[in-house]
Formats: sequence, C-alpha cells, structure tokens
Amino acid sequence: MLTTANPEINEAIPLEVVGQKTSLLRVLTKEDASIVIKSNDPSINSIQDQAREELGWEHWWLSELLVDRFGPLKEKVLVKLGDHSIYVYNFWQELTEDDLRGIKQALITFSRYVPESVADLEDIVIDGKQAVNSNDGEPKNGDWLSGRASAHYKTLRLFPNAFKDSVHRVTDKVNNLEGTIIHELGHSINKKVDVDWSREFGWRMVDSKDIRALPGGEKSSYICDMPERCVTEYARANESEDVAESFVAYICDPEKLDEGKLAFLRARYPRKEITIVGAEAKKLEGQEVKLPRVPRLIKYLLRPGYLIKEAGPVHQ
Ligand SMILES: [Zn+2]
Repeated sequence: MLTTANPEINEAIPLEVVGQKTSLLRVLTKEDASIVIKSNDPSINSIQDQAREELGWEHWWLSELLVDRFGPLKEKVLVKLGDHSIYVYNFWQELTEDDLRGIKQALITFSRYVPESVADLEDIVIDGKQAVNSNDGEPKNGDWLSGRASAHYKTLRLFPNAFKDSVHRVTDKVNNLEGTIIHELGHSINKKVDVDWSREFGWRMVDSKDIRALPGGEKSSYICDMPERCVTEYARANESEDVAESFVAYICDPEKLDEGKLAFLRARYPRKEITIVGAEAKKLEGQEVKLPRVPRLIKYLLRPGYLIKEAGPVHQ
C-alpha cells in the first residue's frame, strides 16, 4: 500500500566520478536537503551531469588537478572532538606531536566561539607545495579549497609555512599554526557579518578606476576609511581578511584589538563554556591511510526547476 507517510521514490541512478561509483537516489521528501542545483530539465542525463559536476566541486579529492599537485598521501590523522571527526590528509612531511596538539587545540579553542564552523569542518589538507599569498606576496599559510567546499567551509588547506616555528603575525600570544587555523576558521563568519562590519569599520567598494594593487599582486576593490583600526597590515587587504585577523586577536589577545571590533565580535560570538569530552588527534595506520570516497548514495529531491541534494556520510 502506498502511504503519504513514506513517499520516497527509491529510484537509484548509477553515477561514476573519476573511477568511483555511486548512486543517485531520487526522493520526494526534503528533510535535510542543503544544496540546490538549478535544473531546467531534470532529465536523468542532466541529473547525472549536474551531480558529477557538483560532486567534483564539493570533494577536493575528485579534482585531478589537486590530486596531481599533492602527490601520494603520506599520513592521515583523525581528530576527534566529542562526536565530531575531522580528518587531516597530510601530503607533506611527517607531523610532530606538537603539530597534532596545535591542530587539536586550535579547533577546540575556536569551537568555544563558533562551534557550528568547527562542526562544518570535515577535512584539513596539508599541501606539501608551498604557495604564495597573492595579498601580501609572502608564503601562504592556508586557504579554503575551491568550489562548494569553500562556500561551506568543509575543507581547510594548510601549507608548510603554517608549521614554521614562530608566533602568529597578529600576536605573540599564539603560535603560527594555531593562529593560522583560527584565522582560516574566522573566514567562516564572513558572509554573516560583512554588511555590518563594512558599515561600522569603514570598508567600501570602489569604482574600477580606483582598484588598488596589493603588495602580493592581488587587486583589491575594497578600501578602508579607518585603516588605523586594523589589527595588522594584512588586515588592511580587504574586509574579509580584516574579520579573520580580528578574530585571532579577539580570541588570543583581545587587548590588541580595536575596542569597537572587540565589542562587535563579543556581542555576536561570545565565548561559550563548552566541555569537549574525549578530544584526541591520532595518526591512522596501514589500510586506514587512504583518501576519502564519494558517498555511496546521494539523495535528490526533484522539483520543477531544481534539484536539491542531501549528502550522505562522506568518510568511509
Ligand atoms: Zn585569510
């Protein structure tokens, strides 16, 4: 008997992405659907094409360009924060105990302020090939991998420079590795605060004729009318970097931060007393040291004009 309580259509459509097989399941209910793919003609072919493209954006290890760049996987680390698992895929040199402690500590620290951003984080990728930061021309510490992974802040990339033995540029109260991770996670609030932050702290877009070149060659169409309120030179690059740098100061050295910016962040992201039970970072061994795979089953909701995706568990 067909009931409305269970209106799923279990129609699996096979899909292969870079040698990995998965299935698309069409469903009629939308519970946790989070991603909308626009589709004017949700035919089976178009579902497959769009799903393939979308999976490629979302899962860094499906990008042949990235996998070529990274080379063989050297180490895999499981960081457990309570129920949440974050995997570190290391394509660089062996991590030390201090490195593992630093990664874990930065995640714990940040989760006291924006726990949802740490909950969104799935992977940390350590890229062994050092890149240059296009804002300041210095060696890059980290970034978010492109595509939807970036929009959802799921995959954080660290470069060797993040591990150099020094203090972070914002303050000597935090080392470079932990400061870098906090800075990158700080970017996860950009979209939520940028309108208010820009208005309060003097950031504005300029006409194309006034676009300025940053020391690293990047073009910035943002200027700040109150650069003296920025906590570092780097924070003056654009509004987004200003927020991320300010977050490092807010958490690690609040006295260093402009009072208005401190009040802004404190009001929106107060420190929470969170106890994380069983936090650990441990290196995996043998067969466990492998790249993730695409989910075996991905559910889509069919709607005229849209496909809505519900992701299954990524790590297997
Ligand atoms: Zn940044």
